[in-house]
Amino acid sequence: MKIVTASSYGFCSGVRSAVDKALKAAERAGRLSLPCYVTGSLVHSSAVSAMLRDHGIVEIDSPEGHEPGIVVIRTHGITDQLRAEFERGGFIIEDATCPVVLRNARLLKSAVNPVIIGRKSHSEIKGLAGCGDIPVIESPDDLGILEKGIEYSAVIQTTLSSSLLESILDRASSMGIHIECITSICGASEERRRALREIADEVEAFAVVGDESSANTSELVAIASSLGKPSFLISSPDSIPPSLFCYNTVGLTAGASAPDDLIETVRRRLENNGR
Ligand code: SF4
Repeated sequence: MKIVTASSYGFCSGVRSAVDKALKAAERAGRLSLPCYVTGSLVHSSAVSAMLRDHGIVEIDSPEGHEPGIVVIRTHGITDQLRAEFERGGFIIEDATCPVVLRNARLLKSAVNPVIIGRKSHSEIKGLAGCGDIPVIESPDDLGILEKGIEYSAVIQTTLSSSLLESILDRASSMGIHIECITSICGASEERRRALREIADEVEAFAVVGDESSANTSELVAIASSLGKPSFLISSPDSIPPSLFCYNTVGLTAGASAPDDLIETVRRRLENNGR
């Protein structure tokens, strides 16, 4: 099988820096004989979560019931309230929130008539929504909660599907609801999407490495499918579907939270026809 690799794939700078910070926090916690925690999943990758667990980092949702130690804030941030709870509880905070997400949270706080566009269940949106009583639009059907005659300033989920964003903005405009986007889908997400499109004509199918819980990864799969290419989400080397080996040329890409060693193992398995 011939593998064509996208020019941009895998860890973005925000994820790479967060993983680095978490590993350093674990080392420091070891030196200080303190427990080390992370708020939920650091990034949307079970492979990364397993690696952090191996370094003694425990996932927790709140300080309640846990001995104070070092707590790493996940890449897509937490609410100000939760951060304050950890501080009150005597935890040392290591903030691994991506700078793009921090900037969006700052813009949201100073925006006039703010609105958030993104998936309500996504950790980033939960963190942003905690900034105040701000409406969240996750589909065109939610637009009914907004009023005509108001100029809304929208902060966009960094990993949102471009087609979903377009459909929300189109419907808003047809309903006479004015929304100005003051942020956009993040550059790293856009870059991986562009790189996938670039090689689509050369390949028969796509292998997209990453987790189902990763919005970035799911969007890459959706884009490949929309281009008429069968696309397979591969979360571990053992989950490569046998049908992928029927293709002669396969495009390889990966979501922004897929670690390098996982991508390389998948590449080797594909090149060696599953062995
Ligand atoms: S995908 Fe974008 S927003 Fe999310 S961690 Fe990476 S750079 Fe930051």
